[in-house]
Amino acid sequence: MPNFSMTIGGEQVAGEATFAVINPATGQPFAEAPDCSTSQLDSAVAAAEKAYVSWRTDESARREAMLRAADRLEAEAENLGRILTQEQGKPLSQAALEFTVSAYWLRYYATLETPAEVLQDDDKAYVEVLRQPLGPVAAITPWNVPVALGFWKVAPALRAGNTVVLKPSPFTPLATLKVGEVLADVLPPGVLNVVSGLDPLGAKLTAHPAIRKISFTGSTATGRKVAIAAAEGLKRVTLELGGNDPAIVLDDADPQTVAAGIFASAMVNTGQICVAVKRTYVPRNLYGDVVAALVDQANAAKVGNGLEAGVEYGPLNNKPQLDRVAGLVSDAVGAGATVAAGGPTLAGPGYFYAPTILTDVTDDMAIVAEEQFGPALPVLPYDDVPEVIARANASHFGLGSSIWTGDPQRGLELARQIEAGTTWINSHIVLPPSVPFGGVKSSGIGVENGIWGLHEFTDVHVVHQIRAIGSSWP
Ligand code: NAD
Repeated sequence: MPNFSMTIGGEQVAGEATFAVINPATGQPFAEAPDCSTSQLDSAVAAAEKAYVSWRTDESARREAMLRAADRLEAEAENLGRILTQEQGKPLSQAALEFTVSAYWLRYYATLETPAEVLQDDDKAYVEVLRQPLGPVAAITPWNVPVALGFWKVAPALRAGNTVVLKPSPFTPLATLKVGEVLADVLPPGVLNVVSGLDPLGAKLTAHPAIRKISFTGSTATGRKVAIAAAEGLKRVTLELGGNDPAIVLDDADPQTVAAGIFASAMVNTGQICVAVKRTYVPRNLYGDVVAALVDQANAAKVGNGLEAGVEYGPLNNKPQLDRVAGLVSDAVGAGATVAAGGPTLAGPGYFYAPTILTDVTDDMAIVAEEQFGPALPVLPYDDVPEVIARANASHFGLGSSIWTGDPQRGLELARQIEAGTTWINSHIVLPPSVPFGGVKSSGIGVENGIWGLHEFTDVHVVHQIRAIGSSWP
């Protein structure tokens, strides 16, 4: 393994201490990552503050630098993908895709047109709304999609004129550290700083007085702590948190087609996606057919080390997550659930768990009511549509959701009744850069992507010129 260093003010900086990173396919440590000290964190934030002074002033220079960064990331996708597979577990093609997606996000925001917002321009007044950058931004990412979710933050933050301190999860710091390194000669020093460390680092970063905005993706429990830290400093905050996405199959759907779509949307990244399908509701008359088709999908799935050709599903990322998923399944079985496919932890080494389909489950079981964040899908029957909408909405989460139907109009009407940030019809996890994405209830505050995601990295500044002295509103 190569050395891993932090990027602070454009320089490569070794950790004063390091910590081990484990390959989830082997369960063994395979690299050391820097554990950022308090003074190194201060240096990273100071570098972001210093770079902000000029970075904010020249929008066309920002756009050009972002396009160069996109080219560099795309060129490095295969190389860096191998590192990401080893620390995260996902198959190589999906790991490389994270860098391609990051490049795509950089290009989207580099080329996004943002027309002037003029509210009034007449003989009485000229009123315009400017979107001002905020300053140094903390971008904090989880271990499931570390790089692409990082660029959901970095791309709009940089385009808006902010500078960034990016902190990946201690489970998956390596690919993000390498991104900092490969972009160090593409972006001006201090514009993108990358630091890594054990969990106290996140709290130190969010509490840092010079940080003006926190963009956080992670669990709801940590999101609450981030919100408290943000409140202390009146920092702007965007929280992308957990989910418990329902997929609702309607009685006019084709069982084989919906089972293939739902299985893929539940199991991608071994179920470790905030907007994976996490519970599926099927009308009683289709229940047997849909379960049988899901079981076929599960039995055909190829699980293994993400570096091996043909592997579709890697291990879970870490031991606590493996234990959580295994515990939720065994608790459900203890309460009467049936394992229709998959089930037990696969033989080690590594944190493997087979794609699992559960029947005889009830809404009060934790595998249904909470976020499993793993490859175990409960399938529940229902009797009528108002009942299933109520059950789908009876969650403290509200991230994604989907309706699966042969009748597009019916799908639209029911989609509008779901309490969620997004409801897809006949798909799940479709996330273009131009479409806002976020959660309601405990799934988050604010959105990412599109013009809405850009605005989250700005404050409104109104310039209001009165044209005739003494004239009054309106
Ligand atoms: P986590 O909350 O444990 O950690 C997320 C990040 O926060 C990590 O970088 C961690 O080091 C850091 N952190 C830990 N304590 C902190 C603190 N006190 N202050 C600031 N930062 C701190 O989440 P995870 O286990 O890495 O990720 C899984 C969770 O993320 C799941 O709940 C999943 O649904 C959620 N997620 C949400 C989205 C979304 O867009 N809504 C996307 C992906 C993952």
